[in-house]
Amino acid sequence: MIWNELLIRYGEMSLKGRNRKVFIQKLNQNIRRALDGLTTVKLQAERDRMFVYASPEELELAIPLLKDVAGIQSFSPIAKCESTVEAIRSMAVAVLDQEETAGRTFKVEVRRTDKKFPLVTGELQKEIGGTVLRAYPELTVNVRKPDILLHIDIREDGAFLSSRSYKGAGGMPVGSNGRSLLMLSGGIDSPAAGYLMMKRGVTIEAIHFASPPFTSEKAQEKVVELAKKLSLYGGTVNLHIIPFTDIQQAIVKQVPENVSITSTRRLMLRIADQVRKEIGALAIITGESLGQVASQTLESFTAINAVTSTPILRPLIATDKLEIIDIAKKIGTYETSIQPYEDCCTIFTPASPKTKPRLDKVEYYESFIDFEPMIAEAVRDRQIIECSLEEEPEAPFSSLL
Ligand code: ATP
Ligand code: MG
Repeated sequence: MIWNELLIRYGEMSLKGRNRKVFIQKLNQNIRRALDGLTTVKLQAERDRMFVYASPEELELAIPLLKDVAGIQSFSPIAKCESTVEAIRSMAVAVLDQEETAGRTFKVEVRRTDKKFPLVTGELQKEIGGTVLRAYPELTVNVRKPDILLHIDIREDGAFLSSRSYKGAGGMPVGSNGRSLLMLSGGIDSPAAGYLMMKRGVTIEAIHFASPPFTSEKAQEKVVELAKKLSLYGGTVNLHIIPFTDIQQAIVKQVPENVSITSTRRLMLRIADQVRKEIGALAIITGESLGQVASQTLESFTAINAVTSTPILRPLIATDKLEIIDIAKKIGTYETSIQPYEDCCTIFTPASPKTKPRLDKVEYYESFIDFEPMIAEAVRDRQIIECSLEEEPEAPFSSLL
């Protein structure tokens, strides 16, 4: 391999001042974490780009890992050589050797920050273009829309060549935009919603409502698996598992069947809001999408939101199911989500829920039960699981057994 470093271009370049500093710091940390397993990596962050230095083998390994890091717009492997025309010629040939050349077009682009370099930009472009054409006669020049753009940066400390650019995840580095609590069911939507918010720089913790024995151990394992998959994009996800059986049974007993789903959601939200406060998060995220089911109409949102003034983020609100499935597939949660384990809501879902529940009526039905102590108990008795994709540490001395 000929590459000496990777150049990383940031996303969201409109950031200024202190925000930019936080952005760069978080991106630096997240890249370090993503490349944790590599031993020769060094990072150098600048105002508008970052460099990753490592052995050529490890740079190759770093490429697929960087594609998932939020806050990276694009990145390119770079080959470095001495800043002489001869050295640049042979490096240009070596760089293009990495590319498919048959029947393709190319263009040489030069940026010359070292003004002492003997040739001006246009002259060097011509020189290197000629060299490339002699070495790869199957290539043709296309200055407007080339298949391969050979970029040469002439700096004081050498010449830097690149021929490809990989797309990053875009968005903002996780951790640069506060913390939120994701309501994570075992379905397809909520993991996708969590991912989209992480891509906007939000650190997430997750909350899941379980109603044993109506929901199984398997259903819970599925949610742990989903939280682990999400941790790939922003580090460990704390998953709060709430014992929800008593509350759900109280709702079934007290609230008419056709609005029980609204009450269930309202109680979930009241509990989530308590946990949110305890962990210092500022918002709650759900996987709801407008019109998808009875509990996801504007009337339902009105009745559900009334229990708190905390911002409820619904990043999937305007997407349709196929778009959500695409996201879930891309982030690797789809296969887990479609496993057929029951969710607490599906079990208690009535045959014909109201699509336009009325807040005053729902409040009236709920007023016969004092939910406060039940909420406090559920929050207190929750289980917290730290979910991350890292391997379990090996037992000490296991190799001697
Ligand atoms: P999903 O695919 O995320 O389950 P859905 O289309 O099945 O969504 P609902 O089951 O109505 O829709 O759930 C709507 C949202 O409520 C979910 O996206 C999730 O944020 C939250 N939610 C539902 N059930 C639970 C649960 N058991 N624990 C935590 N959050 C839940
Ligand atoms: Mg669901």
